[in-house]
Amino acid sequence: MSREGAALPLYLHVISMPTMDKSALGSRMRRTSRPLVVVLFGPPGSGKSTQAILLERALGFVRISPGDILRSHVAAGDALGSEFARIMRTGQLVPDEIINRMITERIAEPDCADGFILDGYPRTHNQCEVLIRVLRQINCDAVVIKLALDTDIAVARLSGRLECKTCGELYHLASRRPKVAGVCDADGSGLTVRIDDRDDAIRTRLSAYEAQTEPALRLLSEFGYDCHVVRSGSALPEVTAGEIAECLRRSTARGTVGP
Ligand code: AMP
Repeated sequence: MSREGAALPLYLHVISMPTMDKSALGSRMRRTSRPLVVVLFGPPGSGKSTQAILLERALGFVRISPGDILRSHVAAGDALGSEFARIMRTGQLVPDEIINRMITERIAEPDCADGFILDGYPRTHNQCEVLIRVLRQINCDAVVIKLALDTDIAVARLSGRLECKTCGELYHLASRRPKVAGVCDADGSGLTVRIDDRDDAIRTRLSAYEAQTEPALRLLSEFGYDCHVVRSGSALPEVTAGEIAECLRRSTARGTVGP
């Protein structure tokens, strides 16, 4: 996907997205020539996926979440799924070569041509190196958003979290109970505790983030990509989304973003 070869012009330059309404957003965006990649970083529990979903709706870009792809294998009960479940249950990271292949193949699909949102990739130094190579090959703009969250808030958010088995909607026993206990408000499916939302797995996931993911983030900034830090934790998701939108606006206002 070269600069010339991008299938459709890209609409970005987000001025503000208080309600993250896509139609309202469309009128506030201007064309830029390169596809945009939004890379969302943040510890488990920082609301990466919530923000990625809001951005997906607002920008019309696909969201790519390795966690979701891995969970779809687990749900399908295929051979890979049982291996992924074994790793995820411990809170550790799935090997780089598997994740890198999974994500680079996904990025090559046509629905990523105008841009995409990375939700949970890259998470290691090696994954960052691979991503930087891919970003250069496809000649795109990229902005990194790091969601910052205190560890005790992350632990509180992850413990007691419930997920819909069908649509993935998230609930919380303390802060967002479903109307009927154990049942998804949206589609009536059963709710479950994610295999990696158990206490020891939560601690391991947070340590993996501190030891492997945080340091890897530096690589992207050293290579010239804009990295913004947005605090998550106290504000409503829509408020955090508005701050992310402002970061995107600042970065894209200059034209191209990144090397
Ligand atoms: P998430 O849904 O992003 O919280 O990811 C859930 C789990 O999937 C993680 O704890 C890891 O075991 C695995 N996983 C997700 N993304 C990656 C990645 N980029 N690299 C390695 N493992 C990952």
